[in-house]
Amino acid sequence: MAYPARPLHRLTDADLQQIVTRWREDLAPRAKPPHAVEITFYPYVGINNTIRLRDGVMQVRLSDMLADAPLSVIDAVVGILLARLFRKPVPEQCTAVFRAYVRSRPVVRLAEQRRRERGFKLISGARGRCYDLEPIFHRLNQQYFAGQLLRPALTWSRRRTRRTFGHYDAAHHTIVISQTLDDPQVPPMVVEYVLYHEMLHIKHGVTHVNGRRCVHTAAFQEEERQFEHYEAASRWLCALSESLCVPRRSCSQAKLPASSTVREKASKREYKSHP
Ligand SMILES: [Zn+2]
Repeated sequence: MAYPARPLHRLTDADLQQIVTRWREDLAPRAKPPHAVEITFYPYVGINNTIRLRDGVMQVRLSDMLADAPLSVIDAVVGILLARLFRKPVPEQCTAVFRAYVRSRPVVRLAEQRRRERGFKLISGARGRCYDLEPIFHRLNQQYFAGQLLRPALTWSRRRTRRTFGHYDAAHHTIVISQTLDDPQVPPMVVEYVLYHEMLHIKHGVTHVNGRRCVHTAAFQEEERQFEHYEAASRWLCALSESLCVPRRSCSQAKLPASSTVREKASKREYKSHP
């Protein structure tokens, strides 16, 4: 999948080059200047911004959702990217400016709309080898939501997972349940519990507490505990996760890649089903 990069507008390339140069001189005055700096706005699915240094060329790709952003926001994003690239502490002011911008209502709406247009889901369907999510959803909807929950697309994930067993994607109104659970050894109450958890995400949506995005609010957790087999299902998932997660081998730091890519994800997808 490759979208053509869009040419810059509003801010000129020279303006952007100047911003990059200033941050580079501020953050890494002794680093060798790149031969060239290429800056483009790019139609990413989300508000992603990336930077990489390859063969002496610095490539900066900014989400095209920032194309109309104020200069202060572009400046902050460039500051964040360069700090990450040079492994310096990210200036707090940059983080604050960028966060405030991406959390503003128009930008949140635009991001959702873009994800709907550009993103896509790999749907494998509600009917697994062992469990069919469709009737489970309807039963839970009747039992806990008085049948009021708008039916989402329901699907099993393509891959097995170890820690995350469910995910609700609001942009596509889709619940994905981990294929790991589509197994005769997994009790029905566990599948139900994970699906119930994701259904609660539909009901509760996202709230902001002290400026932080919060999906598992006190009200959410309170309602989650109302699930009939809450304790037993939680314990079961916990044990499953522990049995699947072997300690990772420590990785060698010696081999650093020739290029480094840094991604600044503005809208982190919130999903979970806690084991
Ligand atoms: Zn959750």
